[in-house]
Amino acid sequence: MLPTFPGGMHVHDGKELTKDRAVKAATVPPLVIVPLSQHLGAPCEAIVKKKDAVKRGQPVGEAKGFVSSPVHSPVSGVVRDVVAAPHASGGKVQSVLIENDGKDDPFPGVDEETDPGGLSREQMIERVRAAGIVGLGGATFPAHVKLSPPKDKPIDTVIVNGAECEPLLTCDYRLMVESSETVVRGGDLVRRIVGAKSLILATEDNKADVAELLRKTIADLRIPDARVMVARTKYPQGGERQLIQALLGREVPTPRRRGLPMDVGVIVQNVGTCHAIYMAISRNVPLIERLVTVVGDAVAEPGNFRVRIGTPVRSLLETTGFRTDPQAILLGGPMMGAAVYTPEVPVTKGTSGILVLSSVIDAEPRDCIRCGSCVKVCPARLTPLDLSLADEAKRYDLAEAWHIDDCIECGCCSYICPARRPIVQQIRHAKAALRKARSAAKAG
Ligand code: SF4
Ligand code: SF4
Repeated sequence: MLPTFPGGMHVHDGKELTKDRAVKAATVPPLVIVPLSQHLGAPCEAIVKKKDAVKRGQPVGEAKGFVSSPVHSPVSGVVRDVVAAPHASGGKVQSVLIENDGKDDPFPGVDEETDPGGLSREQMIERVRAAGIVGLGGATFPAHVKLSPPKDKPIDTVIVNGAECEPLLTCDYRLMVESSETVVRGGDLVRRIVGAKSLILATEDNKADVAELLRKTIADLRIPDARVMVARTKYPQGGERQLIQALLGREVPTPRRRGLPMDVGVIVQNVGTCHAIYMAISRNVPLIERLVTVVGDAVAEPGNFRVRIGTPVRSLLETTGFRTDPQAILLGGPMMGAAVYTPEVPVTKGTSGILVLSSVIDAEPRDCIRCGSCVKVCPARLTPLDLSLADEAKRYDLAEAWHIDDCIECGCCSYICPARRPIVQQIRHAKAALRKARSAAKAG
């Protein structure tokens, strides 16, 4: 019996649409938009100005504070401006607009090979920080912070997360197929940095071929104390808490108790993050590109693309072409993705997928029939129906008392609800209202 976690559900994964399509390089656009906030934590500050010449990989935004992350120019060219530009979050975010000169000249030092064996733990963490690496599974938490657990939280296990449970997305799968060596080496570097004994490469049983490939890579590279673990395919298996519980049987304390994987001796890093960590430490490559799955019934050529950060979605979709007029564009997958209001928003470090749809079903929500399905599937063991009703009644105090902060916004409750209640959207709304109330209370 394959390991799994309580709750969650089986959804048609639709991965056959893109999983066998090899990664292609997307066209690098004439203008890139590099937001100064692409991560959890403090936004960075621009360190270039209008008309400055920049090289590929040159820092253009400096991190402000420990929980922050620098950003780099993905092209060589000239800074057109530093202005507020459309962003996937829904509003505008201060961004560096760079005109691409097409030369791709690297910033001095970028692409230079280094033997990681000669670097100390601190030097490796600094390389990861300076390269602007954040969690590429969607969380965008600065990687150097995760690699620096306090001394009283010893780490015994590193899990490289290749579950990719979100339906339709296959960029992590393609990365494992095409670059298994850098993924495994990156995971091994993470283990070395945090001083853990065990390294686990985790995936789901709908990717059995990749599990075999990872086993072979571990053997070929002679990586000690490393193994591949395969969990049962179930959504949201890729959630850190869910993966740790499934593979190790350890329960991470809830967000409301400020619990983190390090509290149970574990660090989880997405496969893309491990690849990026390897590239930063051993080749001095900053995070200026990522793999993105483009899929949906309005797309002519779905597939996986290597995309420079800052590429407008419109430009990427010109590469894939349309079968029909798109009615909605979501960044991310169908479960956790968010609709964007304009295709001018750029691909950022957290963009794992672009879903382009030819129609949108706008069903009218009905009254809750108390069927209990949402409670059954909730992996955070909440009562989503109560949270939904609390939001409707604007009783955010009740939502808080019913542990809304533990919700991981996986969307299982909305998906399963026969009354088509937009539960996860209501939860996000209530969380935002609570955040506002808390900061108002803090400000006095
Ligand atoms: S979105 Fe939140 S409340 Fe709904 S099933 Fe997921 S964790 Fe539970
Ligand atoms: S799934 Fe929908 S209808 Fe059923 S209890 Fe939850 S909110 Fe109510």
